[in-house]
Amino acid sequence: MSEPLFEKIALIGIGLIGSSIAINIRERGLARHVAISTRSEATLKRAEELRLGTSYALDPAEAVRDADLVILSVPVGASGAVAKAIALALKPGAVVSDVGSVKGSVVAAMRPHLPDHVNFVPAHPIAGTEQSGPDAGFLELFENRWTILTPVESASEKAVADLAELWRACGARVETMTAEHHDLVLAIVSHVPHLIAYNIVGTAADLETVTQQEVIKFSASGFRDFTRIAASDPTMWRDIFLNNKDAVLEILGRFSEDLASLQRAIRWSDGDALFDLFTRTRAIRRSIVEAGQDTAEPNFGRRPPRKDPWNEPGE
Ligand code: NAP
Repeated sequence: MSEPLFEKIALIGIGLIGSSIAINIRERGLARHVAISTRSEATLKRAEELRLGTSYALDPAEAVRDADLVILSVPVGASGAVAKAIALALKPGAVVSDVGSVKGSVVAAMRPHLPDHVNFVPAHPIAGTEQSGPDAGFLELFENRWTILTPVESASEKAVADLAELWRACGARVETMTAEHHDLVLAIVSHVPHLIAYNIVGTAADLETVTQQEVIKFSASGFRDFTRIAASDPTMWRDIFLNNKDAVLEILGRFSEDLASLQRAIRWSDGDALFDLFTRTRAIRRSIVEAGQDTAEPNFGRRPPRKDPWNEPGE
């Protein structure tokens, strides 16, 4: 192993994000020792079977002892309690970070518990899938995706640089901003889109005039793309909306106004208004592909599922 970035890293929480970080550390030799802690025995056992770390403990305080870097990958609503549980065992000078999808409330929940002698650098990798648990992690999850760092003022420059280096070593690109700005940006690019998906899938499920069987059968016409997002982890997303209320409500207010003008355009047969909007939105899609954040292949590169002639569903 060439000189690793950190001597010891502690990963608290080992689901999709924690295990993807662990695989990157292992495969790229980013630390000599990786201590893993999670709240359930079953997940801890699975992490050990998958060889995600070098030591395993149910007690997070035991895992963080002597760690140079501690990363919490737990639901944002749990981060305060975990910070409290590890506070007394943290090594002076250690970097403490997390991966939570909301930053303002995580800082507010964790900071009061953390001793002054650690460097608190919250982070958020903008990468994920709708899968969870230690089996869901994979090496390429962060490849070419952004990780946003929101360091508190007292964190040292070296701590921020070291954490940025770890994320770059995992394949990510790194940007730094305040927690407040992060929460507003994420409300528009992630949180409100998820709410819209949850809402439309819920509406379809509750319709009396169109059967659920019809919704499922004809879903390839657009609906199924919402269902991928609406299948995201309920605990994680409940916590996100409860912890990013202000920014989500602000963006949702704008969204409702814009939806009302679309409603009006349809009612008054204002085809120009519809056409202009759809032309602008198409350009945004092109910019995302050009920025390397998605594939240009038709239908996101998906092929139609192969038909199983022995098990053809009845029409
Ligand atoms: P996950 O796969 O569901 O794993 C969650 C981990 O947290 C597990 O180790 C679980 O432990 C532990 N945990 C759950 N509830 C807990 C509690 N109340 N107290 C302590 N530990 C608890 O979740 P994930 O997708 O990796 O998400 C983890 C964090 O990453 C979240 O804060 C989320 O906002 C953020 N994030 C997620 C995505 C994404 O797309 N999934 C993307 C970016 C950031 P047990 O299994 O032992 O119960």
